[in-house]
Formats: sequence, structure tokens, C-alpha cells
Amino acid sequence: MTTLTHARPRRLNVAFAVVLLSLLLLASGAAFAQEAPPEVPPEAAAAEAAPAPTDSAGPGQGAFYINPLWLALVAIAAGVWLYAASWVCDDAKGVGMGFPTHTSVLLGVGWLGFLLATLVHAAFGFLLLLMVAACFAIYVVLRNRVVPERHRLLGAYHWAEMFARVPGLNKFAAMKPRVRAPRPSFVIKNAAGRTADDVVAERPALSEAADTLIEFVLRAGATKSRRIRIQPAGEQFVLQFVMDGVLHNVEAFETELGNQILALAADLAGLTQIGRMRRGSGQVFADLPGMGQADVGVQIAAAAGKPILMLAMPDWTHDLHRSGLEPLGVHESIIKRMKATLGQNRGALVVCGPPESGKTTTLLALAGSIDAFTTDIALLGLAGRHKLEHVRDWEIPTDRPFSTFYEELLREGPGAVVLDSLDDAEHAQKALHFACEEGLSLGGVTAADAPHGLALLAKLAGDPEMVNRAVTCVVTQRLVRKLCAACREEVEPNPALLKKLSIDPEDPGTWYRPVGCESCLGSGYQGRTGLFGMLILTEPVKDVLRTPEARPEAIRDAAGKAAFRTMYQDGIAKVTAGVTTLEEVRRVLKS
Ligand SMILES: [Zn+2]
Repeated sequence: MTTLTHARPRRLNVAFAVVLLSLLLLASGAAFAQEAPPEVPPEAAAAEAAPAPTDSAGPGQGAFYINPLWLALVAIAAGVWLYAASWVCDDAKGVGMGFPTHTSVLLGVGWLGFLLATLVHAAFGFLLLLMVAACFAIYVVLRNRVVPERHRLLGAYHWAEMFARVPGLNKFAAMKPRVRAPRPSFVIKNAAGRTADDVVAERPALSEAADTLIEFVLRAGATKSRRIRIQPAGEQFVLQFVMDGVLHNVEAFETELGNQILALAADLAGLTQIGRMRRGSGQVFADLPGMGQADVGVQIAAAAGKPILMLAMPDWTHDLHRSGLEPLGVHESIIKRMKATLGQNRGALVVCGPPESGKTTTLLALAGSIDAFTTDIALLGLAGRHKLEHVRDWEIPTDRPFSTFYEELLREGPGAVVLDSLDDAEHAQKALHFACEEGLSLGGVTAADAPHGLALLAKLAGDPEMVNRAVTCVVTQRLVRKLCAACREEVEPNPALLKKLSIDPEDPGTWYRPVGCESCLGSGYQGRTGLFGMLILTEPVKDVLRTPEARPEAIRDAAGKAAFRTMYQDGIAKVTAGVTTLEEVRRVLKS
């Protein structure tokens, strides 16, 4: 029987042996009582009519009346039963199912069968076997639902594996649906050109690890996952992907294979010391479909004494800004406002959001919509990560003060300056000053929403009047997962919900629910789009900013409904357009 964990704990088996022995004694007692010899003396026949106490069979003969065939059957049945219970106990622990429940059901059913066979009739012994078999079958069906295909018992993979072992039946193994995906022509190698195949040539034991690692990396590429985590969990290893900002458990596999994958990755990334894996970071290169040769960061860390392998996949959204603002999910009313500011060649455009909310992509898309032939654009602190045509990347130096560097930059006479982060007081002041006096300033602020971002900017600038003069509007954004187009299912929206959301029940748009399939890791979502909101600096808003310690709530109230398109409104529009779901919008806006 194939188990998930090769080295199963045997601690229960001693207990089982004790139980088995006592059972055999009990069973032989039952056999003794029921298997009377054919020629019974009259007094013994009387005892047979009233069966029970063993000593009634008479001394001298009784101890040898045990039918050896019956005893053998009892021993086999008990053996099968106890082995099945022991196996289920270990396997349930291995696959993370409730092992106390499954083991006790199996043990309880066996006991019941034994009691019936002993006290009522020996034929119940067959019932025991049937019941144990049924419970075991139910367990196998349940565990096959939670484990990946290649670990399923009595599944296609399992049969194929068994056929492959039997000489003469090997040809059937060729018909197997999927034992292991055929190795694609895919290369993982390090800076020195050493490939996974080179490692396998030296250490053939890592052959399966190489195939599996390649399979994992390709799968992460196909789902556009940013991170792969491989780590021990209980008595196995788990594979996790971070896809669209959400952690997914992808599959579980044997500890042995997990350790081999870690050893292979450590070897390729140069994270070995005297033949042993060590903690640290390295890099490999992988040929990813649609990406060409991409950098994959390799990190080996430890948590609670156990090693974790983390692979950082390339940024799949690295050139998303090239197609402009609309594909990012920005509503046309917001695009119009932003372009009006850009057209003035003066002022500041601020994009607010928490970390990893896509601010940089929006800033680059905005920069991309400035005419680079009439306006010199300077990108600060974005060098190397993103490229815009005809736009100069400036790297912020670490060896001299920012102000010196900034003066140098201004001598070049840029018409627009894009700063990834205005979270630093000096950066914020310089950017706002530039927006008031010289040209366009584009920058990101790490804040939950526009009112918070504006309050923070006023504080960083130290002078709210500078904010009022420079900033005309603040954009706020979040990333929301899109429904997986391959598996989403159209649904009728609930009329009560439509009423609550003030949506016309006659024209509710198209609503879908997430389903889950292979390509979205069962989540029902794939890819992301932005939720955008905008706050316009009207006179009431500017008045609030002038007050000392302007509170975000006061800014929100002053902005009022007319000047404020919220991310929630944008989210509802995307739900009715069938792009995402209400649950997803609420999940993202809650954080
Ligand atoms: Zn799907």
C-alpha cells in the first residue's frame, strides 16, 4: 500500500499487538465453545446445549478443541482489521485529516464485529470483515478528495504505478493517464550556467526533485503567482503559491521529495556549504513562457527549526503601465480629471494606497500619458524596475544628500518629476515645491485612502498652504481580484441586496459567482484590476486642511459626495460589470 509518508511512526503498533493477543485469546475461547467434537459423550452434549463457560467442556479434551482453520481465519481477520486501523491512523495524520475520528470508527466497528462473533454466532466474523472493508473504503474516498492526484489511492496514478512494477504488465503502464507530466524543454540554471540537469547528472537521487521543481515553477508561471513556498507541514511538505496577493495551498507531498527539492534549489543557488544546505538568498534563471529568461530569487530560511524554500517569481505586471490608464481599471471620469491636471503642466498628482496596491503602476501609466517629446520627464527611484520610452531614470544616490542630488536634477530642467514615494518629509516638500513653481509632480503616498493621504501630506509638507496650491486631486487605489473567466458562473443578484446597494432592479448588470478550476488554483479568481477613488480639493477641503492637525474624517466630510468618487462606488460598478464580486470588493476595502 502506498502511503504519503514513507517512514510511518510505529508507536501505535505495540498497543495494537497487545490488543491483537488478547483478541486471539478471546476468539479461541469462542471457538472452543462453539466447535464441539463430532462424537460427544452424553454429558458433554448436555454442556453443548447450554454453551458458555469454557471449563464445562470437560478437562483433558477442551483445550485442544480449537479448530485450527477457524483460529487462522480469526487471526487473519484481526490482522487485516488492525493493520487497516493502524494504516488509517498514520495516513490520516499525514494528509491532515481528523485521525482520531477515522481510527476510532474503524476500531469500534471491528470490536463490534468481534463481540457479535464471540457472543452470538461465528458468522458475524464475516460481517466484521465486510464492515471494516466498508469503513476503509469510505476513508479512502474521503482522503482522495483532499490529496493531489498523484497521491490518490486506487486512482489512475496509483494503478499505473503498480502496473509499472510488475514485469510483463509494464506495457499497461504506458497507458497511464498521468504518472508524471512529460518533462518540458524548460531550463532552470544559475549564473554559472549550471542547470538542474547538471545537478541530476552528479546526484541522480535528485531526478524526481528536478522534475517536480520545474513543474512547480511552470505552474507558478501559468498562474502568474509571485511567490512559491515549499515547507514542511506536519509529516509532509506543502507547496504554496502567492497568487494575486493571496496565499494558496497548492498541494502536499512526501517529506523525502521536499528535502530533495530543497537540496536541489540550494545547490543551484549556491546555498551550500561543505555539501550541506545553508540559509541565505541566491538567484537562478528560468525560461518562463511569455517572459523569456527571467530571474527567480531563491531564499532558504528557517522557521521553528524547519527549513523553508521561497522562490520569488518575476513581477508579471512589470509592463502593465504601457497600455495606459484604462486597462488598469481607472474610470473614465477619473482619467478625465487626471489628464486635465497633466495638461496644465503644473501641479501635483498624488496616488494613495497601502503598500503593494499598484501605486507605482498607476504613476508610470500617468507618466506615460505625458507627451515625452514636449515635456522632459524624470523618474526618481524607479530605475531598473520599470522602463518608459524616452524617459530618463534617475537613481536616488545613497552616498550624498538628497537635496544635492535634487539640485543636480533640476539643472537638467525637467518638466515633470515622478517620485515613487512622498512618504519622506524632504521628498514631499521638494515635490510640492516643484509642483507650485516649476512643473508637474507625480508621487505616491502610503495611506489607506485619500483623506488620510492628504492629511499625511499636509503634515509632511509642514505647510498646508503648499498642499492647497499644488494638489488639485488625490487618487486612491486598491487591487481587487478579477473573476476567473474560465470558471465563473452567472447568477441572479438578490433583489434585497440590489435595493440596499441602490441598484435599479430592472438593470442590475451581469453578476457572477466564483467557482474555481485548475487555472485559478480553485479560488475562482485570476488576475487583478484596480479600484480607484478620487478626492478633489474643493474650497471646503482646503479650509479643513488649513486647520491645525486636520483630521481625515473632517476632510472626508468636507469633500462631500459630489467631489468624491469612492473606491466602493467603483467596486460596485465592477461587480455589476461582471469583473469581480461584492465579497472580493468588501474583502479588499476592509483591509
Ligand atoms: Zn477558474
